[in-house]
Amino acid sequence: MDTDASIYIAGHTGLIGSAVVRKLRDTGYDNLILAGHGELELTDHAAVERFFRKNSPAFVVLAAGRVGGIIENKTYPADFIDTNLAIQSSVLRAAHRADVKKLIFFASSCMYPRECPQPMAESALLSGHPEPTSLAYAISKLAGLQMCLAYNQQYGRRRFIPVIPNNTFGPNDDFNPQSGHVLSALIRRFHEAKESNAHKVVLWGSGEPRREFIHADDVADAVVFLLRADHANLALPLNLGTGVDFSIRELAEKIAATVGYTGAIEWDRTKPDGAPRKLLDSTRIRDFGWQPGIDFDLGLQRTYRWYVENIVSDQSRT
Ligand code: GDP
Repeated sequence: MDTDASIYIAGHTGLIGSAVVRKLRDTGYDNLILAGHGELELTDHAAVERFFRKNSPAFVVLAAGRVGGIIENKTYPADFIDTNLAIQSSVLRAAHRADVKKLIFFASSCMYPRECPQPMAESALLSGHPEPTSLAYAISKLAGLQMCLAYNQQYGRRRFIPVIPNNTFGPNDDFNPQSGHVLSALIRRFHEAKESNAHKVVLWGSGEPRREFIHADDVADAVVFLLRADHANLALPLNLGTGVDFSIRELAEKIAATVGYTGAIEWDRTKPDGAPRKLLDSTRIRDFGWQPGIDFDLGLQRTYRWYVENIVSDQSRT
């Protein structure tokens, strides 16, 4: 991929999209095509088609979509499945018609069966029923993944690369405690508890489920690696994880220590636990020559600092 290659990043203000933009610029790629929500509605097939005809990107990173934590998934399943299916089908079709060289599609570890043997290898996809709390989202991502593979198969070119990052965190995450995923939601909840001298924070579920977390900068690093790689013989899709997981209780203790919250932590078992464990087997991409580089504790500290400097300071200005 030449440094002047045109690269369209769909969803460039989000957690993964913004990390991809940073990484591409740091690596010397400046011919980036970016379009905010006001400029391009990605669920609008005709508008996306026109956008691709006008801009003819050579490479595409599809990081746009409706995402959210466990309660958000349970509350808005129709929005999750509808928005993601619409974005995926308009962008993949337009990218195919525009004859892009390569496209990276983000799927999700929610797609794996709830009772999947751990760690979860790519071969275990569709071998069982996904966790019900995020089923609509999981089905939309399974559909996107299959669309990528179907285009590759039907047209005899392996241009669409689906990757499956595990729970991603970092700058520009959703820190809203209702809609965000556990790590960002807990940063905010512990920070606010510390500031208000609260004696306890009540978290959701039992604290026993286990999750694997990967920093968005590592995901972005993998994306740039894959955009530049000769992937002709690479089996798809590709799990993207660190190989390390924690219980939600351990995660909560780590976040409380990072934030400096010293009060009690209690568990509300009326709230859902979700899948018991989601640890990816990332052997496939490791064997291909890529591995993550960001230590979890360091990534967490950096994310907390970003939250204080960007979200908290913005709130105090308004
Ligand atoms: P999941 O990975 O799809 O289950 O989504 P989440 O990241 O939202 O939740 C992961 C786990 O953290 C679940 O077991 C939640 O019940 C638990 N959890 C505990 N407290 C919270 C919280 O305040 N917010 C969120 N999102 N999850 C929480």
